[in-house]
Amino acid sequence: MGRIVFHIDQNCYFASVEMISHPEYKNVPMAVAGDEEKRHGIILAKNELASKAGVKTAEAIWEAKRKCPDLITVPSHYDLYVSISGKLKAMYTEYTDQVESFGIDECWLDMTDYCRDKDPVMVADEIRSRVRNEFSLTCSVGVSFNKVFAKLGSDYKKPDATTYISEENYKDIVWPLPVSDLLFAGKKSTSKLSEINVRTIGDLANADKEYLSDYLGKAGIMLWQYANGLDDSPVARADYERELKSINNSTTTPEDMTNPEQVYGTLHGLCSGTAARLRRRGLEAGGIALYVRDRDLNKYEHQRGLLIPTDSGKDLFEAAKVLFDESYDWHAPIRSIGIKCSKLTKAGSGSQISLFEVQEETERGKKINDAIDKINSRYGSGTIKSLAELSGMADYDRDPLRKEGGTKK
Ligand SMILES: [Mg+2]
Repeated sequence: MGRIVFHIDQNCYFASVEMISHPEYKNVPMAVAGDEEKRHGIILAKNELASKAGVKTAEAIWEAKRKCPDLITVPSHYDLYVSISGKLKAMYTEYTDQVESFGIDECWLDMTDYCRDKDPVMVADEIRSRVRNEFSLTCSVGVSFNKVFAKLGSDYKKPDATTYISEENYKDIVWPLPVSDLLFAGKKSTSKLSEINVRTIGDLANADKEYLSDYLGKAGIMLWQYANGLDDSPVARADYERELKSINNSTTTPEDMTNPEQVYGTLHGLCSGTAARLRRRGLEAGGIALYVRDRDLNKYEHQRGLLIPTDSGKDLFEAAKVLFDESYDWHAPIRSIGIKCSKLTKAGSGSQISLFEVQEETERGKKINDAIDKINSRYGSGTIKSLAELSGMADYDRDPLRKEGGTKK
């Protein structure tokens, strides 16, 4: 017998979580939205009634309200969404220790062992009813023999439904669907495929593999395999999530940035925040990437490795600044900017610095950064922004002569 993989997708997750504490939202069109003032005024999630009124995720609040004048918008409570997501996944680990998250509200479960002597559809239905009864939420479950079709199954019928895509029925269920329904079939591949009349997943499955490879490269082969049910990628273990691959931090500024100083200031904040997250997790980054989106929403990306893995905001900032200077030509103002730290290793494990001085310097930097984290977490992030400012204070505290002088008196 092949594998049994579930993909569980929470329905209208953010909006549904809001409806747990505010049942009155169930009977009105409601959306979770970003901050209008700060230009994050977009719809992040919506309930069924808002969906029916045509409200779309990622559209501007004003656009949504034009379609649906009684739309109630509520601010997001991200910490709460994360916490409930953790509890859901903890419940799933009662069935298998292979629970792989895909975003905050989706995950795959390898249920092969658990379903060895059970009907997988009944097990999926049981999980759905537990999600309903224990969490007051609903989810859709795709049951299949690989991750790609399981994912497709959870999209196929919702809310609160189970779809079983088997080796026997996948050609009937999956093949008539548009290529864009396939995991990792992006806009680019989809539109290139439609140029050669490959529009459904069935078209893709029956296309010539060599031709697709020439036409789309590796992505062509991958998509062809997916369309044919050939996906043997394993479901990661539940504890795998803790091994973070990267940490991202990005921001859209209230006004477009038009000069390097604005960009440096923004980058400084992003790097300090990212460094604090690295330190909280005891990690260091060995690589950094910079993402820039200009006013016309064109995206630019540039990355490099770091000589010595670091968790210092100052190091990250210096690297990010170089990346920016190297890659952006100021053809247009900048709307948003972000960094991604990758090649994460446990703090101290990656850096093999033997020079005493360098080590001491790094230690000192760490203490200063720890102090910044503490102050910012107590008084609110951003209380201390400038590393240079604080290093003066830290030097004062750490100067042994000064301290001795004080006590000897
Ligand atoms: Mg969802």
